[in-house]
Amino acid sequence: MFWKKKNLIADVIENKCDNCKRCVQICRHRALETAVVQQKTFTFVNYPERCTGCGKCVKICPNQAIELIERYC
Ligand code: SF4
Ligand code: SF4
Repeated sequence: MFWKKKNLIADVIENKCDNCKRCVQICRHRALETAVVQQKTFTFVNYPERCTGCGKCVKICPNQAIELIERYC
């Protein structure tokens, strides 16, 4: 298990996200994924247990579509 920073976890704000995948590519823990669900594309934290709360995805997102929130799991 990776060391978790300040009990935080990334969270994608769906209506701001354009699915550019920058966050998916920068996350070295591979916590984020882009997937098509019912013909709609979503980017989300599919593996919350892998997120360390490092904030790299928050910094790289051009749309301010990711925030760090209190860990829910
Ligand atoms: S970097 Fe931002 S806009 Fe791009 S897929 Fe990730 S959350 Fe969405
Ligand atoms: S906060 Fe860090 S570990 Fe968590 S999804 Fe973003 S880049 Fe990955």
